[in-house]
Amino acid sequence: MNAAIYGPLGAGKNVQCKKLERRYGIPHIVTGQILRENAELETPYGTPKEYMDEGKYVPDEMINSIVEKELSEVDHFMLDGYPRTMNQLENFSEIITGLDVVVLMEVSDETTFYRLLDRKICSNCGDSYHKEYRPPDTPGECKFCGAKLTERDDDNSEDIIRQRIQEYEQKTVPVVEQYSDDVVVVDAERPHEAVWEDFFEVVEEYIPDDRL
Ligand code: AMP
Repeated sequence: MNAAIYGPLGAGKNVQCKKLERRYGIPHIVTGQILRENAELETPYGTPKEYMDEGKYVPDEMINSIVEKELSEVDHFMLDGYPRTMNQLENFSEIITGLDVVVLMEVSDETTFYRLLDRKICSNCGDSYHKEYRPPDTPGECKFCGAKLTERDDDNSEDIIRQRIQEYEQKTVPVVEQYSDDVVVVDAERPHEAVWEDFFEVVEEYIPDDRL
């Protein structure tokens, strides 16, 4: 299964992909998480943190090589957060011949703000929580691995969220348009369990038989 998932911030991509990974062993490659784990890494372009703290995309050169290495280590993947610019799309087309499916989860800007401003992330597995939309069973604790929930530095400022929305609209929407023939849209405004039903229906046929 070679798939990519798109959607504005707070659409719930992480929640759906982590569930797919846990249940069916499809590796969830999430560039934002890889960059957060390497936030202080010194590169010729500076550190990832310098860009993330301002809500800006890191340079293409910084992320292209990271994704190439990740993809070389897996047989199946659900790619979350890449390719996110036209340059990344060009690079991606050189290393992967095609995608089985592209899922676009749609939410409004209002929902993005609502979900991000109260979002918590598992410090170990990276799963996402929200006090109303998806509360943990025990406050402050991941229900899957028990690790501590933390806030993301780039979720706690409306200005940074606005900047991130702008990056998505200017740089990523054109990439999604390039995939238009392969894109399946899922309405992600609804409760995450209802979203899962639609999401799973779209991706099920690409999951290898021995994992179903
Ligand atoms: P996310 O977790 O997807 O919201 O990503 C968090 C941050 O990581 C983004 O605001 C960007 O700074 C950076 N990032 C993640 N993926 C990419 C990418 N493909 N290209 C450039 N920057 C990225």
